[in-house]
Amino acid sequence: MYLFKEIARLQEALEQEKTAGRRIGFVPTMGALHEGHISLIRTARSVSDIVVCSIFVNPTQFNDPKDFELYPVTIKEDILKLTGAGTDILFLPSVNEMYPEGVNAKHRYYDFGYLETVLEGAYRPNHFQGVGVIVHKLLEAVQPDDLFMGQKDYQQCMIIKRLLELTAIPSKLHICPTLREEDGLAMSSRNMRLDPRARQIAAQISQTLRYVKQNVRSIPFPDLKQNAAKQLQNAGYQVDYIEIANADDLALLNEPVAGEMVALAAAKLGEIRLIDNMIIAKP
Ligand code: AMP
Repeated sequence: MYLFKEIARLQEALEQEKTAGRRIGFVPTMGALHEGHISLIRTARSVSDIVVCSIFVNPTQFNDPKDFELYPVTIKEDILKLTGAGTDILFLPSVNEMYPEGVNAKHRYYDFGYLETVLEGAYRPNHFQGVGVIVHKLLEAVQPDDLFMGQKDYQQCMIIKRLLELTAIPSKLHICPTLREEDGLAMSSRNMRLDPRARQIAAQISQTLRYVKQNVRSIPFPDLKQNAAKQLQNAGYQVDYIEIANADDLALLNEPVAGEMVALAAAKLGEIRLIDNMIIAKP
């Protein structure tokens, strides 16, 4: 695996591959890699000739400075995992490389519309603008044919879909399934920060989403959401939201619809904020 820290060096290497007609697949990450990330690499491996992974903890998408400071960094282990999964290129830029204009400069604004106002958008001001800025910069650097992202961050996938439309970048977005621990907890770099007691409770978020999914056509939504919030609170979670939305546009629902729906939750165990979601397929 090659490692590049500068956009110019990365592009020189990729230029040769593109000239040779090779298909470039790209998996952007913030590191502290787990099997969920590696599953994206494996999917990319099956579709692409050249698999590029980036590790960059993007300061502009953290609305909580403490969350940024405490974000886990495990670069040595990450490199071993990426090599093991057959990654061709790791792009590991510095903050200065990605933000030569400065992190606090005025960045480009993306009109994500409604998508940015609900759920994560409502609870994490400016988060999706930060995601838009960095993913746009990374896509300009790599110019991949295929882009691989996880359904774990459902709203982020929708934001990136919109970003690709807004910027007319021709990369194809592949949304890959959420990998879970044995007890159902969605894998996440932030899980590393859960203490043993919190880790035991943590799977309740996926159990509650499953409860919502199973009862979506039998219990009225207001009661269903209230029961779900109670379940999380009883387990020790502080709930930000538990919602049922239209899977296509994230319009929040008060009753079932004929199309695909998605149940989404965000809740905190102490300082650690976890998110998860489950698709509720059409009947
Ligand atoms: P992150 O490093 O958290 O920014 O995640 C990088 C990519 O991995 C994003 O596209 C995530 O949606 C995806 N990802 C994170 N956790 C999982 C998971 N448990 N299963 C599948 N993909 C995931």
